[in-house]
Amino acid sequence: MRGLRTQLSLSIILVVLVTVSFISLLSNIMVNKQFETYITNQKETRSSYIVTDLSNQYDKNSQTWKSDYLHTIGMYSLYDGYLLTIYNSSNEVIWDAESHDMTLCKQIMEDITKRMSKRISHGSFTNHTYDLTYNNAKIGAVSIRYYGPYFYSENDFEFINTFNTVILIIGVVSCAFSLLVGWFLASKISRPITKTAEIAKHISNGNYNIRFESETKTKELNNLVSAINFLATNLASQENLRKQLTTNVAHELRTPLTAIRSYLEAMIEGLWEITPKRLGNCLEEVKRLSNLVADLERLAKIEGDNLKLNKTHFDLLEMIHVIKSNFSAEAAKKNLSLLVKGEAVLIYADKDRMSQVVTNLLSNAIKYTPDGGTVCLEVKSQEKSACIIVEDTGIGISKEESALIFERFYRTDKSRNRKTGGAGIGLTIVKSIIAAHNGTISIESKVDVGSRFIVTLPKEEDLVLL
Ligand code: ADP
Repeated sequence: MRGLRTQLSLSIILVVLVTVSFISLLSNIMVNKQFETYITNQKETRSSYIVTDLSNQYDKNSQTWKSDYLHTIGMYSLYDGYLLTIYNSSNEVIWDAESHDMTLCKQIMEDITKRMSKRISHGSFTNHTYDLTYNNAKIGAVSIRYYGPYFYSENDFEFINTFNTVILIIGVVSCAFSLLVGWFLASKISRPITKTAEIAKHISNGNYNIRFESETKTKELNNLVSAINFLATNLASQENLRKQLTTNVAHELRTPLTAIRSYLEAMIEGLWEITPKRLGNCLEEVKRLSNLVADLERLAKIEGDNLKLNKTHFDLLEMIHVIKSNFSAEAAKKNLSLLVKGEAVLIYADKDRMSQVVTNLLSNAIKYTPDGGTVCLEVKSQEKSACIIVEDTGIGISKEESALIFERFYRTDKSRNRKTGGAGIGLTIVKSIIAAHNGTISIESKVDVGSRFIVTLPKEEDLVLL
């Protein structure tokens, strides 16, 4: 398996290599093509210059040729790869490159053939004959032999070679540069990923206190780092809750069990007389344990995968009035004002379970509000949802604990006083029932001022089904 850095570097190099090769190839083909056309044109132009130059060497008065000049033109042309044979009007040879310097001609022809055979396979020396004229009258002819379809002189070859070398250098430099940039980029990307992976490994080994300071400016990598840090924080708090849960469960079980055991031991050893009152106390503790188990069973059922909600249409306000009347006596005992506000709201939900939600919230509000306070239940209808608000002027909950009170067995009262609270499962049940209805629960609270629990339930199904 290849590392991210290697893969990224290789990909960048591949892209650059393909691009540079493509550009080089294309520009090479284009330039060569243009150059070939230029050279071919050049050859024709040169031939026509030779013809003009030669024609000018005819002396019209004496009707003879200036043989010195013919020789100069012939030699110049020869060095450039043009082999001339000049004829007079009677078709007699008056100057011929090959008969003039056979060895030089041979060598030039060999050089050109050798040079050009590397570039074109179908080239060869061919003759082209042009008439030499004076005042439109033929005064002779010239046969020009050159390598066709085109040929490069030494300078042309140098130009093409230099061009190809430049392209090659550009290609090599681009590749080296892209290798460097690719390696740098890949390192920049892979470093935080490698570090995050290391941290994830630490987290999976149970080291939740590890955090990673992001060193990159890349949004996605920052998101990854934040997600890992968030995961670590979450797991740390889950771990804490799990430890606390064990302590809390032990406490919830130990208290009634210790009481029952000490009552029974005292009665068996004869220290206490067996009286209906003492047996009644034992029964109370057993009931407490049974209630705890019943609560846990209810929670397990609600949280189970196949919870079946028995949904019906009912009026929330009406349901709340019934629950309020059930708690009137309890509220009166604490001298609390118990109010109900709001309008009739028809929703489609499991009535028994929603009634359990309101009962748990109201029972808490009464339990945690000192004598003489106020508890208010309110129903609100919104466009797509219905709201139940349970507000009290009680002891309140700190910001840090607001998220924790929904965890099973969690109580803000660390001493877990049995007179002032239950086992800490009520709100867990509430949250699970609301989640099963696709609703939400939020809390606004201030210590020593009061709390406000806001339940929101969707009404969409209601609209569809009505
Ligand atoms: P309990 O049976 O202890 O009331 P819950 O799950 O219903 O269990 O509540 C969990 C904890 O949340 C309570 O122990 C209490 O500390 C806190 N709590 C719940 N409702 C209120 C409230 N209305 N005011 C203040 N604290 C509350």
